[in-house]
Amino acid sequence: MSTVYDLSFDELSSRVVALGEPSFRARQVWRQLWERGVPYERMADVPRELRGRLAASIPVGIEVLAVREADRGATRKALLRVGGEHVVETVLMGYRGRVTVCVSSQVGCAMGCGFCATGQMGLRNNLTAGEIVAQVVWARGAAAELPATTPRRLTNVVFMGMGEPLSNERHTFAALERITDPGALGIGDRHITMSTVGVVPGIERLGERFPQVGLAVSLHASTDELRDELVPVNRLWPLAVLEDAVAAWRERTHRRPSIEWAMIDRTNDSEEQAERLVPIALRLHAHVNLIPLNPTPGWPTAPSSKSAIGRFVAVLEDAGVAVTVRDTRGREIEAACGQLYHELEPTVSAG
Ligand code: SF4
Repeated sequence: MSTVYDLSFDELSSRVVALGEPSFRARQVWRQLWERGVPYERMADVPRELRGRLAASIPVGIEVLAVREADRGATRKALLRVGGEHVVETVLMGYRGRVTVCVSSQVGCAMGCGFCATGQMGLRNNLTAGEIVAQVVWARGAAAELPATTPRRLTNVVFMGMGEPLSNERHTFAALERITDPGALGIGDRHITMSTVGVVPGIERLGERFPQVGLAVSLHASTDELRDELVPVNRLWPLAVLEDAVAAWRERTHRRPSIEWAMIDRTNDSEEQAERLVPIALRLHAHVNLIPLNPTPGWPTAPSSKSAIGRFVAVLEDAGVAVTVRDTRGREIEAACGQLYHELEPTVSAG
């Protein structure tokens, strides 16, 4: 099984015509799927009998297995089965001026960052473009139910869920095309952020093909010695190489990258790590986001203490680096990537 969101308009059209229907039906179905994100059974302008045949032959492929809420309903984490077999986590976060969905690009991840619940799973599957898009479609519907303090309309997409999107580049880029296409989901490139742990060739191609899409680099360490340990892909693309790639991306796109840093107790939260981060952040004109670690059962480490975070921030600020300590949205619903999956894994069967 796959999802209808993997089909182009022409492909959908031929499938609808093959069911013996006139081609204008394809336009109706496309509009409902992409503009309104409704499943077949709610397509009022499509005959009931045809809705059943469509569902059987071209499944929509979005099944909600569980939803957890936090932050008074402003954060919703869903476990979705997309494309009929792949189970992933998708998180919707409503803020005062924007609503952001965090999508997964893979089931599990091959990058092996020890502190990450998804990394602890290993790579199980790449998602197709349609399976990534399906998460955005779910989020667009769920956004309407967020509290009135938010815009109740999906405004932003971040690729920061399960998986390393640039190691599933073909499908990630195809999903970006659909998400930004005005004839599909029509979300502006500047409202999308790609997160990577440092897949250098992917960063180069992202800048070439989608120069308006933002870049967030999960650095987590400012020396190769520590980064090799925390983020094993650093052995392939060490800090100096990654830094050059991000600098080139910035030159090409004229956009400001962000540096993501999970604050891990007595591991990467020393003043020395902060001091070594300063020249990197300044060279890249990067905004640094510090995220207190969400502890995972597979890695016996805690988030940094408030005082360690305070000292780290002071070093960066004194040197003129823009820094934010992120709120840990939805900690009570296992919001770090891969955690809800782990918790509910015995009840779901992933592909
Ligand atoms: S932190 Fe990101 S890249 Fe690293 S294992 Fe987790 S999902 Fe993969």
